[in-house]
Amino acid sequence: MRPEGRITRFAPSPTGPLHLGHAYSALIAAERSGPGQFLLRIEDIDQNRCRTAFEAQIFDDLRWLGLRWPLPVMRQSDRLPAYSAALEKLARLGVLYPCICTRGDIRAALSAPQEGVPVIGPDGVVYPGTCRGRDIAQAGANDALRLDMRRALGLAGQVRFMENGPLHHGTHSPDPDWMIANIGDVVLARRDMGTSYHLSVVVDDAAQGISEVTRGADLFDATAIHALLQVLLELPRPSYWHHDLIRDEHGKRLAKRDDARAIATYRAAGATPADIRAMVSL
Ligand code: GLU
Repeated sequence: MRPEGRITRFAPSPTGPLHLGHAYSALIAAERSGPGQFLLRIEDIDQNRCRTAFEAQIFDDLRWLGLRWPLPVMRQSDRLPAYSAALEKLARLGVLYPCICTRGDIRAALSAPQEGVPVIGPDGVVYPGTCRGRDIAQAGANDALRLDMRRALGLAGQVRFMENGPLHHGTHSPDPDWMIANIGDVVLARRDMGTSYHLSVVVDDAAQGISEVTRGADLFDATAIHALLQVLLELPRPSYWHHDLIRDEHGKRLAKRDDARAIATYRAAGATPADIRAMVSL
């Protein structure tokens, strides 16, 4: 790395067109790299939702915005062996268990009178722990694999990460009890997918040598999970820059399906890259 330079990345999932919010995220990542390096990564583990046409449009829109990145581009669908190796390491540490619960099972368990109001964490409702304690050696091919949060924190201790962005600037050391209650036993390998967002992002940020992860503030709470996985997997720990989210005029976050705000729509209407930068106030 050249002096002062950071290695940053933009990691879109090609499940829809690039919109203003993505452009903002990509431009911030490129700017934060300074004289370092800006990398691109295609997060396409969810093959049911990813489309090559969206991917091609993402490359084209990013180039049009003036961004450049080294080739070849890392693609998560090529990285399944790296994710399996990470899962094996976690299994050896004794912090994974197979889960056979359907969404309906989880809803039913949470509606039991003693459960109280379900807690919503970064991945939705906090898992009630029905399958916790199942032996990983007995995992079926179609089981999801969950992280036993309490055991994982028992091994790793309190995790910490450095946030460089203005929204949450400073060192963060999430309280282990808070993580157990508010994040819980997240899925690290989804059924039929062999991995998950949390596992892949941590393994790949390390493989790409990312020194600062730039992404939307909606992922801030998930960073505690990533910091924990970095300790367990003995990976280098990047610092973070979570940026604000671009919202529509009603204050709602832009969605992938929001074609009105797709970069392609603005391009077709004659907008320039400078217009897009102005729209996201860069
Ligand atoms: N692939 C994720 C998304 O499109 C980005 C995750 C990240 O930057 O950590 O939302």
